[in-house]
Parts: sequence; C-alpha cells; structure tokens
Amino acid sequence: MVITVDHLLDKLYEKNQLSKEELIYVLENIHEDSKKKLFYYARKTRDGYYGNKVFMRGLIEFSNICKMDCLYCGLRSSNNNASRYRLTKEEILDCCIEGYKLGFRTFVLQSGEDPWYTEDRMVDIIKSIKSKFPDVAITLSIGEREEEEYKSFFHAGADRYLLRHETASRSLYDKLHPHASFDNRINCLKVLKEIGYQVGAGFMVGLPEQSHEDLVEDLIFLKSLNPHMIGIGPFIPHSETPLANAKGGTVEDTLVMIALTRLMVPDGLLPATTAMGSIHPKGRELALQAGANVVMPNLSPTSVRPKYELYENKICVEDNAGHCRYCIENRIKSIGMVLDTSRGDHWKYSQAKAL
Ligand code: SAH
Ligand code: SF4
Repeated sequence: MVITVDHLLDKLYEKNQLSKEELIYVLENIHEDSKKKLFYYARKTRDGYYGNKVFMRGLIEFSNICKMDCLYCGLRSSNNNASRYRLTKEEILDCCIEGYKLGFRTFVLQSGEDPWYTEDRMVDIIKSIKSKFPDVAITLSIGEREEEEYKSFFHAGADRYLLRHETASRSLYDKLHPHASFDNRINCLKVLKEIGYQVGAGFMVGLPEQSHEDLVEDLIFLKSLNPHMIGIGPFIPHSETPLANAKGGTVEDTLVMIALTRLMVPDGLLPATTAMGSIHPKGRELALQAGANVVMPNLSPTSVRPKYELYENKICVEDNAGHCRYCIENRIKSIGMVLDTSRGDHWKYSQAKAL
C-alpha cells in the first residue's frame, strides 16, 4: 500500500502517535485538502475532552524588565530602546479586581526575567491575590527560577506555570539563547511538573533556520513531556533585535503545528495566541478551528501595554480589559464555540478536585 498523508492523519487521529519519519513526511507533503482533514480531526479530538468550550485567562504583563537576551524578543536585555516598567503589588491587584468583575477566574502573571520580584515579593503577590480571590487559579509565567522558589510559589497558591521550551532543537535553542542552557529549561519543566503545577510548554513556528525536522522534534518532545498546556505561536520579528530582518512564521504553518499538537497531546489546553491574532485578523479564530481551546485576553493597564513589546504590531495595545473581554467572546461565538468562564483546569485536575 502506498503511504499517503491522509493515511498518516487517520493513524495519528486513532493512535495519537506517529514516528519521527511519519511526521516529517506529513509536514513535507501536506496539501490543502489534507489540512482540512487534519483540522477536522483536531477539533473532534479537542471536543472529545473539553467539548465546544473555550477557556479564558486574563493576562497581566506585570514587568517588561528582563535579564535574559533571547535573540527574538523585544524585551531582551540588550534592547536599550525599550522603555521599562514594573507594576506594584497594588497595581497587579487592581488588574485582578477588574478582571474578576469581568468574569475572569484565571490570572496569568507574566513578565521578563526580572530579579526585582524576589521569592518573597512573588509569594506576597500570590498570597494577596489568593486571599482576596480564593476561587481563582493563578498561572505564573516568569521564566527560569530555582526549584526552591518554584516550590514556595506553589505553596503560596500558584496553580499553573507557563514556560515554553521555545524549540526542542538543542542547536537552534543554543543559537537563539546566549548564556542560557537548554538543559536547564527542560529541567525546569520537569521540576515544575513534579512539584504539582499544571505545566505549560510550547514553541514558536518560523524561527530562523527552523526545519521540518526541528518542528517534529517539538512534537515528539511534547508527547514525552505530556504537559497540561501548550502555547504555540508564530515567531514575529522585532526591529530592535538581531533577528529584525528574519521572515517570521506564517499563519498556515502555525495552524498545522497547533492541529498536529492537538493530535499528539489530545487532552492539552492549547491557547489561540495573541501572536496568531497579531499576524492575521482572524488568527485566533483560525487557531480555535484547528484545535485550540483557550484564549488569553489582556488585563494589563492600557498605559503599559505598548511597552510589553515581545514583538511589534501586537494587537489590543490601545484597548482596555473590558473591551478585550467582550471582543474575544464575540469572536468565539462567531465560530460557533462557547466561552467558558470557569477556572478551566486541565481535566485531570478537575477530576482530582471532584474526588
Ligand atoms: N520571560 C518569560 C515570559 C515572557 S516571554 C519567558 O520567556 O518564559 C513569553 C513568550 O513570548 C516566550 O516564551 C516566547 O515564546 C514568546 N515570544 C517572545 N518573543 C517573541 C517574538 N518575537 N515572536 C513571537 N513570540 C515571542
Ligand atoms: Fe526575556 Fe522571556 Fe523575552 Fe526571553 S522571551 S528576552 S526571557 S521576556
């Protein structure tokens, strides 16, 4: 029998697994008709675990100060033209108060790697949010820290942690991250999982020199890590970085990676990322139609939004929290899905709580 992309997609849908060679074959040969089938399978798989629901998280970008120097990112420490800010605990709490009123039950605290937020300061912030809002989930996305710090944050009430692996190709990772260690990043993900967090990994699509083989490495790595959440977005060049003239990722390629990820890790929580919305007016809707099931509208104060510039032409920088909340709900409805305003835990955690 001649192997075709369609046969391989049938197998992937059934078994949630393909070999490296098979996945490379799919990426090399996929065409428009088989993409339709791929997205259909991805939606069906998602619906099997989570139904037609889209979970909502409020993103609070609380500091754009970063000691790291990732080549792709506008917040990298070498970018002297970035105007830097930090939010105080009170300002973060104000975002939560507004978010809670708008129905958010997950707050994602994201920042550059900013050592000003010491273990003690982060614990204080987490405890303050949790004592005011015991029914919300807190997600941290503040980069690589020591195991002891991760434990303290968890015991203070943090529930989830996003730490994209960025790329599972060691050589590409090393090129993009001066003075950083691939092994440490991967180890952090394992440690976070062991501590008990719901853990989010993820990668960018369209990085310079990224091959199909590299993208397949991402899929195979995710299959073995089996994280609860997986953030996938296109790489978007920023003019104040060494990758200013790079091409960047496309909507089409990113959609294929989202759908393949859904089939490899069928019960994952996959966001339709802001980066997708930033390169295409319907980028987030398309991501949801390719198997994603989470949105993360911005809750940051409008005054700091333009400064949290991971990449340029980011959407929603002029808007306020209320606008973003209802804009996203309309987008979800427009494709026949339903906004779910619960905490939106991974199904394994929801079950654990019910027992
Ligand atoms: N400092 C933390 C969290 C903030 S960065 C960390 O790095 O983990 C959040 C994510 O933004 C990164 O994981 C990266 O995948 C993404 N990102 C950074 N620069 C980007 C760019 N130019 N295009 C697309 N995504 C980018
Ligand atoms: Fe800092 Fe994160 Fe940007 Fe890297 S991706 S420079 S760690 S904010």
